[in-house]
Amino acid sequence: MFGIFLYFWRTEIKMKKLLYLTLIVCTILVSAQTFIPAYSTRVNLVSQSNINSGLQDYVSFGVKNTGSTNNTNALNWLKGKYASFGYTTAQVVEDPFSFNTTNSKNLVVTKTGTLYPNIFVLVTAHFDTINGVGANDNGSGTNAILEIARILKDVPTEYSIKFIHFSGEEQGLYGSQHFVNSVVNATVPKMNIRLVFNLDQVGGMAGQTHNTIICEQDMSNNPTTNNAASAVITQELKNCVLLYSTLQTNTTVAPAYSSDYVPFQNNNEIITGFYEGNGDSNPYPHTSNDIIPNMDPVYLFNVTKAALGAVQHFAVASSTLSVAENGNGDQASGWTVYPNPAKDFIEIKTKDSRAKEVSFEMVDLSGKSVLRTQNLTKINVSGLPTGVYMGKLNTEGQSSSKKIMITR
Ligand SMILES: [Zn+2]
Repeated sequence: MFGIFLYFWRTEIKMKKLLYLTLIVCTILVSAQTFIPAYSTRVNLVSQSNINSGLQDYVSFGVKNTGSTNNTNALNWLKGKYASFGYTTAQVVEDPFSFNTTNSKNLVVTKTGTLYPNIFVLVTAHFDTINGVGANDNGSGTNAILEIARILKDVPTEYSIKFIHFSGEEQGLYGSQHFVNSVVNATVPKMNIRLVFNLDQVGGMAGQTHNTIICEQDMSNNPTTNNAASAVITQELKNCVLLYSTLQTNTTVAPAYSSDYVPFQNNNEIITGFYEGNGDSNPYPHTSNDIIPNMDPVYLFNVTKAALGAVQHFAVASSTLSVAENGNGDQASGWTVYPNPAKDFIEIKTKDSRAKEVSFEMVDLSGKSVLRTQNLTKINVSGLPTGVYMGKLNTEGQSSSKKIMITR
């Protein structure tokens, strides 16, 4: 009988160990990639009109062949954009290089991390074009990075970020190869790169349905030592797409090739990348027909959202919103919405509970009032479609509004 008891006892311990192990593994997997509301709030700041006007600016410089005046004009436009976002001249650095008889410059914009200032997440896209104005290849990646950099300007991230606009890509990855040789490897100690996230040709084709973004991973034979790590972060990238955008991802493995991540992967860095869902059948890149009317700016808008979710994840952005972000002056206005984004219920917390005649209203983007209540502690929003609303709190003749997002 004792033997039987001992048997069960041991079995129970084994089961418990297995259970704990399973729990630990699950916690690690899930904790790395849970939905973070603050990330989503920032993702919702991605602006279609900024993307559209950025594309217009970008194509207005014409064919941006490496070494051309048009290319330099585009570089200066990028510098101006970063200045307008509030990046300092110390953060925005030109990186000149030459090949054959051609001289050009990359633009490297650094945002310093709070916890790991010397470990860098590189977010990269080339801005040079060939044969055409390059609305998609690579006005798309260029403008996605601009939006991400704009929105993250004042957001603390644990890791440092370098937003890099490469030139010389189309003739043979000259700008990125130079950066790896003369900056990454020439820095003492060598620049510590957490990962490289490259965006090239993510603008889609007009008139096609785009619901997928391809997440590319390192499948190269030389070296193979960095491939497993690329697979891990590419899976994390896919998770971010699902968490922070309406897009789907590729179900089969997509090898990374022929873009600026290649010199990094050759250098044994960890790489991943975005490439449009039907890119291989897109006839426009590298032709004079790579123009805005032939691409899909709404797709680029969605890709940018996915990319911003991923950059926040990779650089470990703050998971709480600052006062300015919460904005519309949460502190000043004296009330907060919790949670935001919300699913089924929200709660309004007011600083001054003595305020009389309090009522709360939600207005959709067309301006229609969709909810009105005087109960602020448990407001049922489960009947509202997902989307962005303005919440209006009316207190003693005063009214104050803030953005509320419903997600499910
Ligand atoms: Zn390209």
